[in-house]
Amino acid sequence: HKPSLHSAFNLLSCLEEAGYESHIVGGAVRDIVLGRPMGDIDIATSATPQQVMSVFSHVIPIGIDHGTVMVRYQSHSFEVTTYRTEEGYTDFRHPDEVAFVNSIRKDLSRRDFTINAMAMNQNGDVIDPFHGKKDLSKRVIRAVGDAHTRFNEDPLRMMRAIRFASQLQFEVTEEVKQAIYNQASLLNHIAVERIAVEFEKLVAGKGYQNGIHLCDTLGVFSYLPIFSAHRSLQVAVPRQKLFGFAQLITYYREQTPTISLQKWVKDWKLSNRVKREALSLHSALTEYKQHDEMTLWLAYQLPEHLAASFIQVLKALGYPVKKEAFTEVSTLLPIHSIDELAFQARDLIKAFPNLEKGSWISSGIESIEYAVVTKQLNNKYEHIKEWVDQWNPPASN
Ligand code: ATP
Ligand code: MG
Repeated sequence: HKPSLHSAFNLLSCLEEAGYESHIVGGAVRDIVLGRPMGDIDIATSATPQQVMSVFSHVIPIGIDHGTVMVRYQSHSFEVTTYRTEEGYTDFRHPDEVAFVNSIRKDLSRRDFTINAMAMNQNGDVIDPFHGKKDLSKRVIRAVGDAHTRFNEDPLRMMRAIRFASQLQFEVTEEVKQAIYNQASLLNHIAVERIAVEFEKLVAGKGYQNGIHLCDTLGVFSYLPIFSAHRSLQVAVPRQKLFGFAQLITYYREQTPTISLQKWVKDWKLSNRVKREALSLHSALTEYKQHDEMTLWLAYQLPEHLAASFIQVLKALGYPVKKEAFTEVSTLLPIHSIDELAFQARDLIKAFPNLEKGSWISSGIESIEYAVVTKQLNNKYEHIKEWVDQWNPPASN
């Protein structure tokens, strides 16, 4: 789903015609001014959620308490949020009170950084009370208002500051640096899943080296799971950016093999999908290191959707590998899955009629699979049968 600026402007017009003020806000405005590809387009409006629902026919109330609804319009989705401020963050997580306000200016003042605190009206005029445009051209991440106060309200903003610095290849201001340095410990109040989202974007950013360096020098690593206990991980700098936690874990496990995948997944509260991917990448890496090249067995075992990911990890670790390496080896594969094996379990059972069924069957099939994939054996029934007939009868169990 590609964001459509055209539809966003039409949506603004609809709200304006119904008598409500509305603006495109946040990241989309920043990316338009930068000429960078946009993520989602967020809209802020003077209309209440009820009023937005009366203007559009497809509206999903996704965060009514925070004034947010999802508007489905011209086949695109937009988050539309009523102008609001946030007051009091006693639990460091949620504002105690969300107050609707009557001006875009006040709405912009609750936002984290000047470059994220701009709005655009339907004529394309930019409303920029905190001089975000100037900071975009100076390439700095500056807090809206006092950085200490803003990070105290919501400590996640410290991670966001570094993540934007990495993504945009910007610097953070001295004030932001000081505020992070002094208050990094407040990250303890933030759910690890939310920190993970920002950290993942940080290591995937073009400026990841600077991002990692900032985490180190500003004391942020002391509050990130696993990194906090391993100085060696804090100073390891991958030679290539890493896309997502599966890659990240695979890279960092090479630095400190004593930390199990299980621990990474548990401490960072990662999903089973990430765990499975990290496991596949790790076995591929083990195979790669054993043979010092992309092997047929590796190409056969690694799920295709992880191939690009695996190449990235190899590069991050400093292995000289071509990006076509996987595809080149893949095309040489005699089979692509066990179903294509010309000799199946039932054939193996027939070959040893006197043996009880047991784990010898699956290990036998795996030997055949390995021999065929690595081209020591032709994928022809007769060839395999001949080979199997030379086996000593496997020990029964
Ligand atoms: P991306 O392109 O990565 O989505 P973004 O700037 O759109 O970047 P979001 O996390 O989608 O970032 O947030 C949208 C906007 O909401 C931000 O631009 C900012 O104005 C505001 N915002 C988000 N999180 C915070 C926060 N923790 N504190 C203050 N403002 C925030
Ligand atoms: Mg966004």
